[in-house]
Amino acid sequence: MAMDKRTAIFPGSFDPFTLGHMDVLQSALNLFDRIYVAVGYNHLKRGFLSPQTRVRLINDAVRPLVDAGADIEVLSYTGLTVDLCREKGADFIVRGLRTTTDFELESVIAQANRKMSPGIVTVFIPASHAYSFISSTVVRDVIVNGGDAAPFLPSNIDINKYID
Ligand code: ADP
Repeated sequence: MAMDKRTAIFPGSFDPFTLGHMDVLQSALNLFDRIYVAVGYNHLKRGFLSPQTRVRLINDAVRPLVDAGADIEVLSYTGLTVDLCREKGADFIVRGLRTTTDFELESVIAQANRKMSPGIVTVFIPASHAYSFISSTVVRDVIVNGGDAAPFLPSNIDINKYID
């Protein structure tokens, strides 16, 4: 029986993409045939890295996976994630969970998305113990204050190449 490709969107701010995000992505690759890593941004909010730079960093971070055959596409978007799902033919949204606070915030968003688009299901992937303390906020703080963020970032990423 021919099966449709299972396609998921992994949305986030990814400002910047961390080892925690990478870990969720790697788990998601075991569940889905194609994954769009989607950098969501707000025109009115200036981020740490620009959306284009975030996309470039993620493309560099996932290159070894893509070279090994993973079907990953990185893009940026504004607007509703469910609209992006429809545009890309994705039936799933992937989100990572670190804490109960993450769960409380995420379950509300997942329910709203399900109400808007009943066919789209959010799949939660728990953080690995080793990475559950990593957040983009902490990484930005470390960088801004001159610390070494390398332990929190994908191993092939030199953050200095992305900061102007
Ligand atoms: P957002 O601003 O949309 O929450 P983030 O870039 O902070 O975007 O996070 C994107 C997704 O990755 C979220 O589902 C978040 O819970 C998850 N995430 C972030 N850090 C980790 C981590 N260390 N382990 C597992 N999931 C994580």
